[in-house]
Amino acid sequence: MPIRLSDYLKTTYGEKVYRLSLSSGCTCPNRDGSICYDRINDSYYIGEPAEGCEPLIGGCTFCSEGGSGEFATKPVDIDTQIELAKKVIQKKTDARKFIAYFQSYTNTYDDVDRLRALYHRAISRDDIEILSIGTRPDCIGEDILGMLIELNNIKPVWIELGLQTIHEETARRINRGYKLSTFEDTYRRLKKAGITVIVHVILGLPGETKEDMLETVKYLADLSPALDGIKLQNLQILKGTRMYEELAPGNNHIPVYHSMSMEEYTDLVAECIALLPENCVVHRMTGDGPRKLLVDPLWSLDKKRVLNMLTKKTAKYFDESVK
Ligand code: SF4
Repeated sequence: MPIRLSDYLKTTYGEKVYRLSLSSGCTCPNRDGSICYDRINDSYYIGEPAEGCEPLIGGCTFCSEGGSGEFATKPVDIDTQIELAKKVIQKKTDARKFIAYFQSYTNTYDDVDRLRALYHRAISRDDIEILSIGTRPDCIGEDILGMLIELNNIKPVWIELGLQTIHEETARRINRGYKLSTFEDTYRRLKKAGITVIVHVILGLPGETKEDMLETVKYLADLSPALDGIKLQNLQILKGTRMYEELAPGNNHIPVYHSMSMEEYTDLVAECIALLPENCVVHRMTGDGPRKLLVDPLWSLDKKRVLNMLTKKTAKYFDESVK
């Protein structure tokens, strides 16, 4: 049976461990125009456009200015960022242990020496237990992998990959900019290196049926070596994104978007959790978009209600012996 993240952390560290949303100062190759689509070979690469290839424009269509991580602190030096983020949490709690969490943009997309120094500084602090890095599978070359292995020898490193869907047609539609085979290759290399891998999935992408979404989760549940963790979230339409523009009245560039009700979404999440293998840690079950940008679904603003409903519907699928 899968395990809740909070249970996993309490069992492993003996107390609650809190996430600090930090900024690495990286950009994203899908936002800065560095990803090219090779029409002839139907493949993607990061680099200069060659003949028969064209740059992708605008990043993933659901991604907002903040790079899908709206709550990260501003990129000042890492110790200052950590202290500032800790202060906010410690106002309400007696938190002592933390995860250094780099979510926004692509946090392995820069010079490896700069990244090594940054992440090394973060995990050498006594208050940081885990280093969690959000990135893309096409941004983990051998030098980056070598750095991750070094860091993982000091403290646990979690790599979070934004896969969103296994379906190539949807991936093209949302302008993800890499193929499933790239994910598969990077996943195996990371797992072979002993790195913990967490995969992000978005439920409700335009054009996907319930069966498509369950197929994505089933695929991840069946991965070998086994998946360490998953983040599920409902699609959130945010102002200023390309998807928001595409959904404007009269625009028929994308298949009809089905806005799930809270009931429907929470039922679907329960079905997803039921598919997950033993020991797979569930890091998230709902989206956490910025209130001021969210256009749909508005029920996701009532996070307490959504979480209560999810807790009730998913309880029987979690391993209750891990507490
Ligand atoms: S969602 Fe992530 S990978 Fe996609 S454009 Fe935004 S920052 Fe880049």
